[in-house]
Amino acid sequence: MPADWAYAPAPESTDIVKLRERYGLFIGGEWIEPTETYETISPRDEEPLAVIGQATEQDVDLAVEAARGAFANGWSELPGSERAKYLFRIARILQERSREFAVLESLNGGKPIKESRDVDLPLAAAHFFYYAGWADKLEYAFPNRRPQPVGVAGQIIPWNFPLLMLAWKIAPALACGNTVVLKPAETTPLTALLFCDVVRQAELPPGVVNIVTGDGRTGGALVEHPDVDKIAFTGSTEVGKAIMRRLAGTGKKLTLELGGKAANIVFDDCALDQAVEGIVNGIYFNQGHVCCAGSRLFAQESIYEPLVEKLKRRLETLRVGDPLDKNTDVGAINSKMQLDKIVDLVEAGKAEGADIYQPPCRLPEKGYWFAPTVFTNVAQSYRIAQEEIFGPVLSVLTFRTPDEAVEKANNTPYGLSAGVWTEKGSRILWMANRLRAGVVWANTFNRFDPTSPFGGYKESGFGREGGRHGLEPYLRFDE
Ligand code: NAD
Repeated sequence: MPADWAYAPAPESTDIVKLRERYGLFIGGEWIEPTETYETISPRDEEPLAVIGQATEQDVDLAVEAARGAFANGWSELPGSERAKYLFRIARILQERSREFAVLESLNGGKPIKESRDVDLPLAAAHFFYYAGWADKLEYAFPNRRPQPVGVAGQIIPWNFPLLMLAWKIAPALACGNTVVLKPAETTPLTALLFCDVVRQAELPPGVVNIVTGDGRTGGALVEHPDVDKIAFTGSTEVGKAIMRRLAGTGKKLTLELGGKAANIVFDDCALDQAVEGIVNGIYFNQGHVCCAGSRLFAQESIYEPLVEKLKRRLETLRVGDPLDKNTDVGAINSKMQLDKIVDLVEAGKAEGADIYQPPCRLPEKGYWFAPTVFTNVAQSYRIAQEEIFGPVLSVLTFRTPDEAVEKANNTPYGLSAGVWTEKGSRILWMANRLRAGVVWANTFNRFDPTSPFGGYKESGFGREGGRHGLEPYLRFDE
């Protein structure tokens, strides 16, 4: 048991968040009353938080019309330096209101407050700052290519980093002179809806940003809308494939950021204690609800035993519980549906013959919880080594040589990220050249920066977000 005397509860107050009873759809700068609604809940106690609109096809129509109007009536013509001012303003307001956003993010999504406070919010603001800087330099980013905005962007995001994914989508789109209709995930709409306040506070022209809430039906209507010029989707590989099929032949631009099953590869010459921290951060950060989570640990055989022992000992110190407690390391699972998926895959791991380890921890009675889990004795063919679990579950495999590590790491339909732990710089470069992954971290994991492009190989999708590369999907070129 974690020593109870080590921490006193340190709950973050929720007073700073003023929730409305019900939320409309944010279209053309106004709140539109939805015809259909559903309730959004808090995964930490299953308590309802607010009534949310389920946008229909007609609502999506209205939103696209508002975005088209704003695009045609000035936004796309605005000098980049003027667009930048709005983005800088949004970034500063996010910083000013960061505590309010962080509390709401943890309340609605279940992630620990220390993560929403120290990771999600600073990074979301940083994205707006970064792309504000590009807005008046597009000609320099793409010399002699005459970059032009694409038009109306339809953007669909998942529930694991609700505000951060919104920032990844909206900041580059606006910097390039597009207008947007964004659909947050159905379980985590609240920070996107609070962002509408920021849009108003920044005095962004009405219709430049429109937010429609709802489930996959709303997303489907956005994908199929004939007046949308570009779809940016982050979510599961399954839905991504369906979207790609639906868009085939339409000429709409598309980027897909999909699932992952990253390899975190630990060589015997690495700093082992640092690697253990990186492994823990790689898979238990945000309850493992991370597309680039290091969910497959490859340990070199010569250090397998001490590594697993250190890892298990470290797991015992993780505090699982109330996302709003500042001491919490692992918060609530985002939804009942996701919890069921994790349980199903963990049962499959046990049935296929892997050995399970979970540190003793008391899980709260209400809400959705899953203890940090490590599987050893895993074969590459097991479902837990092949399928994305999207939960706090690590599968440990072994290798002997660098060649074998590469071969096993690439043995997956995904290719989003990877990690390499070694003290040899030459080996890092050798591995990075051979790993089929969009991002390769060396002696660290889950590091994000707005200046650095992020995206996948193979079934993890295509297109890059972040960095100069992240501008390109939102531009067309009159060459
Ligand atoms: P999901 O695909 O079920 O949903 C993602 C979004 O798509 C939601 O807003 C959902 O409402 C919408 N949607 C669902 N069906 C749709 C349809 N038919 N047409 C249009 N939109 C539809 O995924 P999820 O469970 O919300 O998110 C988890 C997945 O997202 C994981 O696989 C994870 O790896 C992936 N993810 C990827 C990245 C990345 O950058 N590559 C980042 C975060 C999450």
